[in-house]
Amino acid sequence: MDAPNTRILPYNAHNTAEAAALIAAGQCVAVPTETVYGLAADATDGAAVAGVYAAKGRPSFNPLIVHVLDVAAAKKLAAFDARAEALAAAFWPGPLTLVLPLKPSSGIASLVTAGLETIAIRVPAHRAMRALLEACGKPLAAPSANASGTISPTRVEHVMASLTDRIPLVIDDGPTRQGIESTIVREVFGMTRILRHGPITGAQVLAALSTGKRKVDRFDTGADAPETVEAPGQLSSHYAPRKPLRIDAPRAAEDEWMIGFGPTPGDDTLSASGNLTEAATRLFDLLHRADASDLPKIAVAPVPDDGIGEAINDRLRRAAHRD
Ligand code: AMP
Ligand code: MG
Repeated sequence: MDAPNTRILPYNAHNTAEAAALIAAGQCVAVPTETVYGLAADATDGAAVAGVYAAKGRPSFNPLIVHVLDVAAAKKLAAFDARAEALAAAFWPGPLTLVLPLKPSSGIASLVTAGLETIAIRVPAHRAMRALLEACGKPLAAPSANASGTISPTRVEHVMASLTDRIPLVIDDGPTRQGIESTIVREVFGMTRILRHGPITGAQVLAALSTGKRKVDRFDTGADAPETVEAPGQLSSHYAPRKPLRIDAPRAAEDEWMIGFGPTPGDDTLSASGNLTEAATRLFDLLHRADASDLPKIAVAPVPDDGIGEAINDRLRRAAHRD
């Protein structure tokens, strides 16, 4: 790790600028939100996001929530329909995360969405996170600031218990108010669905969707919902390529598009120099490219299981077994 000493600094303008400078340099910083402390990194920088996974020791890639300052910033990243607009107007800033169709022009690193065509976005209310967003001028990806498998961090001590010497800085602004993670609502294809329960209740979400004469009393009933969903990839919570995929392949068969790594060459390479952080940042882009190639199958070179390689291999194994 390149962060031998974790500093704890109180929330103020000077220390926010310090945190923003670290984030601009590709590091991640722990900062309180109204739910739990988040581990924030520049969501447009794939290597920085790989650093979040490395610090948390997360053995798998789950899509991360992207934090922005306001609805206008959110609209640069995702497509809002009328229902998403209503939810944003009712609950932002606050502990509601919206999963919406990702705009191709968003500039968000594919590691943030784990290759999905949807993005989870939130406008936080906490002064420390808002000040950091303003100072950075970038969308910030921020999962909870704790090592994988440990309790959600509502206090600086919880952050330090598992991330000491793994991150350079924690901004301290006391215990968080809510203490449970944000409610997650998916709004895609005119259908609304709660993906995670949290501080904002299902009843509150339904009330916000009921406007004028229309009363909405259950989910998945968008008036404009298509009879059949044409792109189920937008609804699944894990991206996997459509084509058969073979892992640990030393070389490609004739009908396989080869994704190389280190000494094993390919049509593409995760990292010619064998750098696992680079491999993580390229993984989902290369899987999409392999899926779009004119060969019917995909082969992937062996990737070592060290550090973030564990999460890369987890994702590749799932793609190989199509779960
Ligand atoms: P955390 O950041 O640890 O609070 O967790 C983020 C949560 O958001 C996880 O449960 C993810 O599965 C979920 N999530 C993030 N992005 C998406 C997405 N595009 N589609 C569905 N779920 C998502
Ligand atoms: Mg968490």
